[in-house]
Amino acid sequence: MKNYDVIIIGAGAAGLMAAVQLARRKKSVLIIDMGTEPARKVVVSGGGKCNFTNLHADWTHYFGKNPRFVCSALTQWTPNDTLNWVRTHKIETYEKEPGRYFCEHDAHDIVNALLNDIRDTKIQYNTTVNSVEKSDDKFIIKTNRGDFSATSVIIATGGLSYAHLGVSNIGHVIAKQFGHKIEPVRPALCAMKTKAFSSELAGISLQAEITINKNKLNGDLLFTHFGIGGPVVYRASLFGSQKMTVNFAPSTNIFELLKEAKKTNGKKTVANILSGILPNKLAHFLCADTRHIADLRDNELKQIADTVNNFEISDATAIGLQSAEVTAGGISTDKISSKTMESQLCAGLYFAGETIDIAGDLGGYNLQWAFSSGFVAGLNA
Ligand SMILES: Cc1cc2nc3c(=O)[nH]c(=O)nc-3n(C[C@H](O)[C@H](O)[C@H](O)COP(=O)(O)OP(=O)(O)OC[C@H]3O[C@@H](n4cnc5c(N)ncnc54)[C@H](O)[C@@H]3O)c2cc1C
Repeated sequence: MKNYDVIIIGAGAAGLMAAVQLARRKKSVLIIDMGTEPARKVVVSGGGKCNFTNLHADWTHYFGKNPRFVCSALTQWTPNDTLNWVRTHKIETYEKEPGRYFCEHDAHDIVNALLNDIRDTKIQYNTTVNSVEKSDDKFIIKTNRGDFSATSVIIATGGLSYAHLGVSNIGHVIAKQFGHKIEPVRPALCAMKTKAFSSELAGISLQAEITINKNKLNGDLLFTHFGIGGPVVYRASLFGSQKMTVNFAPSTNIFELLKEAKKTNGKKTVANILSGILPNKLAHFLCADTRHIADLRDNELKQIADTVNNFEISDATAIGLQSAEVTAGGISTDKISSKTMESQLCAGLYFAGETIDIAGDLGGYNLQWAFSSGFVAGLNA
């Protein structure tokens, strides 16, 4: 059996970036993937335009037991390195928000650039890894298409979300087998279920501010048939908390607005007044009182104002792994070297990407993590 210097399990963003570095180092490498094509999550990312990095990426944009784990990798392969690498491949980009970069044309451009950099590296598709064993100084990778041998292994098997693209928990299984702890997995960057709203609001979207675990998040909120979605809710789902408050009019002090309206527009209902700044249906949902505003006491106006500026939700749960953009949790960072991505429990075993207990915020942070951790693993394996 041929012994490779390195076998990479997973031809996603992290595994392919690791392979790019190994190709530069002239190592003999085999990439094994159970799918029929590489980097399927890159292809669907950013609505097909791949938000491939964010220049603001630092540890504060990451979640997990130890978010500072990302620091070393992010300085070894920075967001600017990603951007420069993309530009070297002459991929046209656009900056949707300051520092947040997408492909101008198609996410496939990123996949093709990765493949272009590893033209001589063999990728074994349609091959599912079932287990990894270590005997003497070699790893034996057991698959549905036979065994493969390598001196080092990089586990880049991704998360468990978007299962229809082909996912598995083999990374967690292998890590556990070598003594690593697995942090419980949960869906993140996804819509959330809640009974706090009527399904009649489904389809309405507006700018809102969510306060969760003392963090304030701003962005578009979309009402759905089962709860709430949209970018600001996706971000809130990273915190894994059922409790949050929503401000439906972040730039308006509703109590002041209603007190003023009581003086100047006393014959209107509160919902009429609120309709001036909120979608009509939402205004009526938040305040069903049909009295003239002049007939409401200030403490009643304050209560209504609080439902607009400070709406409390206590039952929000992430909708599920099937539609979550990332998986929070995974292989604990405890026994992985952040400088090399090597296991501290088993020499020659490396990890990269989403399979590790690191989840990034919405905005290109997850692919940056995949690239940075893949780079480091590929530099050291
Ligand atoms: C819809 C969607 C949109 C997204 N948009 C963005 C975005 O715009 N920007 C951003 O930063 N992030 C985005 N993300 C997240 C980002 O795509 C992922 O975090 C990133 O691709 C993870 O890369 P990875 O290499 O760690 O894992 P993956 O890309 O999941 O790769 C893992 C690979 O391992 C293979 N594998 C798994 N198990 C086995 C096994 N047993 N045997 C062999 N092979 C195996 C899989 O086939 C897969 O190819 C998005 C995700 C989704 C789902």
